[in-house]
Amino acid sequence: MKCPNCGVAALSGAKECAGCGVIFEKFKKKLDSLPTPTPPRFPLWFGRTIAAAIVLAWMLGLAVYYRSHPGRPQPRRVSGTIPLPPPDAHENP
Ligand SMILES: [Zn+2]
Repeated sequence: MKCPNCGVAALSGAKECAGCGVIFEKFKKKLDSLPTPTPPRFPLWFGRTIAAAIVLAWMLGLAVYYRSHPGRPQPRRVSGTIPLPPPDAHENP
């Protein structure tokens, strides 16, 4: 008989392990009382599919929104240069 805790060979009928001192009966009860691992309620692909559907719907909504509300085209700015004021900005009336 082997100790279930440390694997040291124990005498048959022994109550305690000679290697780690565990009491076999207590160890057995402890093992039995441990909850058995339950499978997750939903499989992994389920959550991923839901997340993908949400992202897809969000992107679709954005696309529909920007197609129906086209923004004004912004003037292009070249980074690093200060935009010059319009030529008539400093003229006196
Ligand atoms: Zn042991």
